[in-house]
Amino acid sequence: MLDTVITNATIYIDRGVEIEGGWLALDGGRVHSAGRAGEPEPDAARRVDAGGRLVTPGLINTHHHMYQNLTRAYGPAVNGTLFQWLTTLYPLWARLDEEAVYLSTYVAVAELLLGGCTTSSDHMYVHPRPGLIDAQVRATTDIGFRFMANRGSMTRSVDDGGLPPREVVQDEDTILADSERLIAAHHDPGPGAMTRVALAPCSLFSVSESIMRTTAELAEKHDVRLHTHLAEDRDEDDYCLEVYGCRPVEYFERVGWAGPRSWVAHYVYGSAEENKRLAAAGVSATQCPSSNMILAGGTADAMTLRGVGMNVGLGCDGSSSSDAASLWMETRGALLLGRFRHGPQAMTARDALDMATRGSARALGWDDEIGHLRPGACADVVVWDTSPVALAGALTDPVEAWLRTGPSRAWYTFVAGTPLVADGELRLRDLEDVLRRHRSAATAIQAAG
Ligand SMILES: [Zn+2]
Repeated sequence: MLDTVITNATIYIDRGVEIEGGWLALDGGRVHSAGRAGEPEPDAARRVDAGGRLVTPGLINTHHHMYQNLTRAYGPAVNGTLFQWLTTLYPLWARLDEEAVYLSTYVAVAELLLGGCTTSSDHMYVHPRPGLIDAQVRATTDIGFRFMANRGSMTRSVDDGGLPPREVVQDEDTILADSERLIAAHHDPGPGAMTRVALAPCSLFSVSESIMRTTAELAEKHDVRLHTHLAEDRDEDDYCLEVYGCRPVEYFERVGWAGPRSWVAHYVYGSAEENKRLAAAGVSATQCPSSNMILAGGTADAMTLRGVGMNVGLGCDGSSSSDAASLWMETRGALLLGRFRHGPQAMTARDALDMATRGSARALGWDDEIGHLRPGACADVVVWDTSPVALAGALTDPVEAWLRTGPSRAWYTFVAGTPLVADGELRLRDLEDVLRRHRSAATAIQAAG
């Protein structure tokens, strides 16, 4: 007998492969098989009648700063530009400790699960104390969530012309030694991994040129992924020309990052020529629609980037800039932005879903196992719930209906075959206790403002 069978569902297996009124079987943490209506369903210990709902691969989040939910919608920063917002919040984040990071990661994952996300990376670049990424891995492991920890770093404080205070930056030797330690402790390169580690200097204006180079070498040595923010803001062009004598993308190439190991957050301001070069090099980009709109700094032209062969995934970004973290909402945001920019024929719901699944999986170097529901894929699956009121009249195209109506949230979210959301509710034993402690931690941190 198999573990689980989801029946009576419309199943989006992968780009171009959809089943109407069929079933999907999960076993041993993997997708076992799928069938059409009328094809015999296998016996399974758990049977979920989807009642005609849409089933998709779990959505994948390729850019987040989970600790920022401790300062969500923080009044003194809400109307700032990116740089004003950062300088207001850095002194608060300097108070982060292991408890606060554990709690913020736990809450972030709970929120992601409700929005149909089954794998997330997290760019943790503020290190006022050691051990913060270990605390994150404890939280994701306690929950059973698939996680790619990004060992972020900053070397330039206000003392060296940077934005952050000295307490949250580190010297290069500390960063490199901790990166190697984290890879040894937590990076599982094997199939079905629940935790992987990537290396992720924060941005080209917060770290030195040498740490960019040595981080890329270290990633090569240990075969892990590379992540950073790139071309998020026009200010970056001026900064780069002044400090490095070239444009951000040229600098990115010069420090050895332009390869298939890298994915970059935002990537709004690449030129047409630079887009082609990075696409040819195999670099992936992450679009963060809500964050881009709320900070009003421009957004990646995702469909044009895809058109020149660049892989594009999606991210919700940190909860201080984009205060909600629903990948459904980001997928819808990507659809709206694509059509707003290029017209109604420029982008479909399937394009957006492809970005949130295959595109994001490829950005993380993980598309052999996640981002689709072909047999053998990780059993990371979402059964979507949209109110029957919102769906009334939506009869012809379940994927378009899923993204155009709504809001949708997860009715079931399976990670590695385990339902972490069931019947629309989170199945996390410690959630209430964690929320209470998160409130205390957030209050203490915000008292520093
Ligand atoms: Zn970010």
